[in-house]
Amino acid sequence: MKFPILIIFIFSSFLSVAHDNKGRAHYLGNEGVMVSQSGVKVLFDPFFHNSYGHYTLVPEKLRQAIFDNKAPYDNVSAIFISHAHGDHFDKNDVLKYLQKNQTVKLFAPAQAVEMIKNLKGYKEVKDRVTAVHLKKGEAPKHFSIKDIDIEVVRIPHAGWPKRAEIENMVFRVKVGGSTVVMHMGDADSDVSHYYEQQFFWPKQTTDMAFPPYWLSLSASGKHVLNKVINAKKIIGVHVPTTVPPDLKASGDDFFSKPGETRDIE
Ligand SMILES: [Zn+2]
Repeated sequence: MKFPILIIFIFSSFLSVAHDNKGRAHYLGNEGVMVSQSGVKVLFDPFFHNSYGHYTLVPEKLRQAIFDNKAPYDNVSAIFISHAHGDHFDKNDVLKYLQKNQTVKLFAPAQAVEMIKNLKGYKEVKDRVTAVHLKKGEAPKHFSIKDIDIEVVRIPHAGWPKRAEIENMVFRVKVGGSTVVMHMGDADSDVSHYYEQQFFWPKQTTDMAFPPYWLSLSASGKHVLNKVINAKKIIGVHVPTTVPPDLKASGDDFFSKPGETRDIE
């Protein structure tokens, strides 16, 4: 084999391997999910300690593997935080993880970043932190880092208009150049919030969305999932440890056991 042909051969086999490398979602607990594609990895809501007696925690062994940068949870590029509630976010853990893993970037609502700012050691990591400032109804924000494209929109926390002050973010993230996922935090089921952002959803098809499970339980939430957000596949999260019979009956897929995975087509 001549030298240039060898180069082309190596390059094309590399491309086919890269192409075959499907996206994958790994469940951590509650709304914690890791998404990987071609070796590019991101974490959503990975660190928290409050189950409120109903929800899954990230098992200690799994949590330790994330902290210790052990496969498959190694070489993560970015963490996304949906909102600053105790079943989604622990400020000390997030800071500790950023200190230990010095290339990881953080994207979080300004409210969550305010809490981390007061901790000792924040100065060491602050250049890798992006505070997302968004009001309800405001136009989406866009960020990008190596191999990752990020769009964010604020959708109110469930129970709206109660808890209207909580900055709940919906992140639509393109990982590794091809896999698009959407993490919705504790988004409310009322379709009117999503109509307020009517131009956001059609702009990009989502391969896999992670809505809170309650969207699968109401007509309005079902409409959001099936007709509005432009997602090909739904995996419910925030599922109580005792899986509600209504959720099983809904026909929607969901994560309930930490460690389980789904391939993203
Ligand atoms: Zn929650």
